[in-house]
Amino acid sequence: IADEIMALGDPLIQRCSEETGLPEVRLTGERGRTVGQLRLFAQFVREGSWVDARIDGAEPDRKPVPRPDVRSMMKPLGPVGIFGASNFPLAFSVAGGDTTSALAAGCTVVVKAHPAHPGTCELVGTAILNAVRRTGMPEGTFSMVHGPSVDVGLAIVRHPLITAIGFTGSFKGGKAIFDEANRRKVPVPVYAEMGSTNPVFVLPRALTLHGEAISMGLAASVTQGVGQFCTNPGIVLLEHSADATAFKAGLANTIEQTPAGIMLTGAIRNNFQKGVEKLLASGVSISSRGQAGSDGMVASACLLEASARSFLEDHTLEEEVFGPSTLVVTADNRAELTDAAQKLSGHLTATIHGTEEDLTEYRDLIGLLEQKVGRLVINGYPTGVEVCHSMVHGGPYPSTTDSRSTSVGTAAIFRFVRPVCYQNFPDSLLPDELKEGNPLKIWRLVNGNRKID
Ligand code: NAP
Repeated sequence: IADEIMALGDPLIQRCSEETGLPEVRLTGERGRTVGQLRLFAQFVREGSWVDARIDGAEPDRKPVPRPDVRSMMKPLGPVGIFGASNFPLAFSVAGGDTTSALAAGCTVVVKAHPAHPGTCELVGTAILNAVRRTGMPEGTFSMVHGPSVDVGLAIVRHPLITAIGFTGSFKGGKAIFDEANRRKVPVPVYAEMGSTNPVFVLPRALTLHGEAISMGLAASVTQGVGQFCTNPGIVLLEHSADATAFKAGLANTIEQTPAGIMLTGAIRNNFQKGVEKLLASGVSISSRGQAGSDGMVASACLLEASARSFLEDHTLEEEVFGPSTLVVTADNRAELTDAAQKLSGHLTATIHGTEEDLTEYRDLIGLLEQKVGRLVINGYPTGVEVCHSMVHGGPYPSTTDSRSTSVGTAAIFRFVRPVCYQNFPDSLLPDELKEGNPLKIWRLVNGNRKID
């Protein structure tokens, strides 16, 4: 699939740019990430140990009852329905992480093409079909449907042969699909990766020593890609001080100089405006706005401000505003900052900026945030999700509908498998992964010991 996508060449990038407004250089990078992800999964499944083979040998002489021979491994669930998001037309779309991990698990896939980039979907879908044919995979390994109506997607969710759903997109869409899957006669798991506000804590000594650098880095993270990332830092929390005031002024200044940017769709741009207005109606104030644009698809960056007291009182302040804005929440003291952290719901990430002394002193904050998010970042920024074996791109509800999983990285494969146990099977009937002689030479848990021989 990776080879076939690369063979599409420049027309894929051009088409994608025309449909999304994203610059070609960004899309070329995203294509690299997409094919890199496909190749990483190929390597992962070839290595083979991911099936988590477990063997507990028979003990016929055990008293009072003999122990049977028991073996288990992960097997694919079956056909998976996939919904991609508009903001990553390659890496979270037709051949994105959800499709890749489902195919790698051995599942077939039915993709709902995203109406914001249908031509891109069609090109990539054709590339996958070519790969299916070239490699002699069965007909129906991959299929895709188009349609600018939610009914098209819901038909996939309702189809009796579908065994799981992978979704990346908005909270509204993910929750609707989750509810629909649970209304089925036979409910199926929905792995919906939805919105997140990704809180960033800036601790006192870091503010004093690195406030200016952090404000620049933060502004870049907030406005990158016109803020259209699920890992966009949408809340910044700090304690009131003179350094905090200087930090906020620096951030306001940088945001003010940010040029307006074209958003992915008119609907996303309107939702961004509405989201900012909703915050303003909730007692939040604007501290600065980026440069204005004239086009109807263009959005200006926005820095908002509220007290921790308001944040503690009104849950809507924590909701995702998808676009180039962030809300700075100022606490009167450390206790109020901890209360604000305690009040957070589930997010994909949380970030802490702190010196070593800060991090020692605020250790309890780390413990608290571990319960709230899937990924913790120290002295960095949440945007930019590494595709690797240990990545966790997930988090407690409402950032996802199942916090036990990730949608990025090779561990995403475990969403689409289930364990099957084989008791007293003759060797000839066992899958190769569980055969006595370990013909695939994979790591297995044999009588409690991890072994490859
Ligand atoms: P979206 O509007 O939810 O659309 C995603 C897909 O779901 C589309 O194919 C859409 O089809 C379908 N859909 C939406 N509502 C539906 C419903 N009620 N019933 C059936 N299908 C439905 O999301 P988006 O605007 O493309 O993407 C932006 C959002 O994705 C942001 O909130 C962002 O934070 C989030 N996101 C999350 C991650 C993550 O990993 N957590 C990554 C990227 C983006 P139709 O258009 O036909 O309705």
